[in-house]
Amino acid sequence: LLEVRNLRKSFGSLEVLKGVNIAAAKGDIVTLIGSSGSGKSTLIRCINFLEEPTQGEIVLDGVVYSAIPLRRRSRRQNADLVYLRRKVGMVFQSFNLWPHRSAIENVMEGPVQVLGVSKKEARENALGYLEKVGLSDRIDYYPSQLSGGQQQRVAIARALAMEPAILLFDEPTSALDPELVGEVLRVMQNLASEGRTMIIVTHEMQFALEVSSEVVFLSKGNIEERGSPSDVLKSPKSEALASFLQRYR
Ligand code: ATP
Ligand code: MG
Repeated sequence: LLEVRNLRKSFGSLEVLKGVNIAAAKGDIVTLIGSSGSGKSTLIRCINFLEEPTQGEIVLDGVVYSAIPLRRRSRRQNADLVYLRRKVGMVFQSFNLWPHRSAIENVMEGPVQVLGVSKKEARENALGYLEKVGLSDRIDYYPSQLSGGQQQRVAIARALAMEPAILLFDEPTSALDPELVGEVLRVMQNLASEGRTMIIVTHEMQFALEVSSEVVFLSKGNIEERGSPSDVLKSPKSEALASFLQRYR
């Protein structure tokens, strides 16, 4: 379904990703772990071209999106990018909800504005997605009236409403108070058991152990180690991974 091929990304002279390859088949859950600054967010942002890759390719559903500077893109290539972004849902650490829209309006926004779905239909669908994340009783609340965990669940419902082929999560629980982490992880767990394809950056090692098809350890822009969750998380081979894991126990 998704392939990241030889992805390189530099900011000026700083090379942040040094030729990364990952792949996810339908239903796979690839978890990215690594120290601060190792390039996890950059990698995930390159997948939907929120960050322009310096080199390499993203392949989604057999369509190849190459690293081409924005200003050298043809109109056709730009249209392709719009399609890619629509197919790739993203959930951020900081929720990023529209503050002046209620929960349900946040979920309806994309389908109405981007997909051209009627308001009536978008509303019905949004109710379903909010129910899925356990927020049927909060549909008219504004983000400021919701806890962090609830806001993040609205953000997940909003991503789902676009019917993405794949979901990207960048530390979805890192900004939450510890007692709110579980409710978000449970929603993600449900998505996993529905067979959704996800790429997840997280420091929740127990969660990673339970849901991942593959765990990828990034270190200084390279994949230092990868494999089954139990191999990577229980029997690290490199010193770098072993000491990283020490810090999250
Ligand atoms: P964290 O765990 O702290 O979120 P990360 O693994 O997500 O870290 P990235 O955010 O991908 O790391 O950053 C990797 C490196 O790229 C860092 O050295 C960072 O300073 C640098 N970097 C990221 N974005 C930019 C940018 N827009 N301009 C310049 N440098 C950047
Ligand atoms: Mg990050």
